[in-house]
Amino acid sequence: MKSRRIFLQKAGLSALALNISTFNPISAMPNFLDSKKMDEKPLRVAIMGLGSYGTRVAEAIQETKRTKLVGVISGTPSKVEAWKTKYGIPAKNCYNYENFDAIKDNPDIDAVYVITPNGLHKDQVIRVAKAGKHAICEKPMAVNAADGQAMVDACKAAGVHLLIGYRMHFEANTLEVIRMRKAGEFGTPLFFQGLSGFIIGDPSQWRLQKSLSGGGAMMDIGIYSINGARYMLGEDPIWVTAQETKNNPEKFKEGIDETIQFQMGFPSGAVASCLSTYSMNNLDRFFLNGTKGWAEMQPSTGYGPINGKTNQGPLDKPHTTHQAVQMDEMAAIIFDGKKPEVPVNGEEGVKDMKIIDAIFKAVKTGEKVSLKLA
Ligand code: NDP
Repeated sequence: MKSRRIFLQKAGLSALALNISTFNPISAMPNFLDSKKMDEKPLRVAIMGLGSYGTRVAEAIQETKRTKLVGVISGTPSKVEAWKTKYGIPAKNCYNYENFDAIKDNPDIDAVYVITPNGLHKDQVIRVAKAGKHAICEKPMAVNAADGQAMVDACKAAGVHLLIGYRMHFEANTLEVIRMRKAGEFGTPLFFQGLSGFIIGDPSQWRLQKSLSGGGAMMDIGIYSINGARYMLGEDPIWVTAQETKNNPEKFKEGIDETIQFQMGFPSGAVASCLSTYSMNNLDRFFLNGTKGWAEMQPSTGYGPINGKTNQGPLDKPHTTHQAVQMDEMAAIIFDGKKPEVPVNGEEGVKDMKIIDAIFKAVKTGEKVSLKLA
């Protein structure tokens, strides 16, 4: 990584100069502009971080009705070349981590989707905001609530949207359970169980380095149970308790949680019991129980299809690519002021960060930690 940084520092300004001097507006015209008919003005997006999830989002954008991939921000020149060819991205819309503040002078980019390691989100989103572009940021939005709040404040000051990549907030079966709960079809919801985990591989990856990840399984996968508890129950927690188990301290170093079970209490009296782990597979399950009915989903947050049933029968909304639906809905939020059923704004992200801060505190102290999220 050090050599990569040095390369980037050296490449920084000259790469920008090269991009400008070699740009040919006709040859650089994206191919898909012709092949894809947009009824409305598209949200023109640059992706920052061309890794595994960035690649998935780029593919999904090709399916959308209202968004276009028009730019990239990357520290890997070979990826930039490949993406330019694959997606018809003009050289003038390609940046690296050193020069991307210049995006402020690029009228052809509306929004930047930050899909880099968690520990980089705060500074990158703040720079995007200062460049006057809308920021879409992956979960977890930051590595603690204070950083998340700084991102919200920066976007507010710049007058741009900050949206968090909570793709489940737009998933049809998830929304159906939320509709049923709101309609009272489960009676009074009293219990939620969320199980989120997988066995993580390569011990050298950024997800296991505190400075880049901010934590272990909780930041990465446990956040799905936290966020899920909130949208399934329709409330924000007022306390948490949590217990950590670390069986492999070699792999899961100080500050990197392996397995945490945690409990949350809600104003109505409902409770949630959840598991977050990097040491077990096949954990992607939500269960909601009310006085009159129940819903269970497994898988509940994977890329889909989401499977599940309620006491009334199977959940049968058709599968659509989560990231494509998310991007079109985000275009509607930005352009039309649409209010999604479950928010995806920065404030929503900060709530999850406050809960994670409280869970880490509860693990450390062994005490019940009170929360005020409003
Ligand atoms: P990857 O490691 O696959 O990709 C991260 C990319 O970030 C890299 O490829 C690199 O792109 C860029 N990067 C910049 N600086 C660094 C650095 N110091 N170390 C490593 N990479 C760096 O990660 P993912 O794509 O899986 O995850 C990225 C983000 O997306 C995370 O916040 C994660 O939580 C989130 N995510 C969300 C999912 C969802 O379903 N919503 C699913 C998976 C991940 P480049 O070479 O172009 O600079």
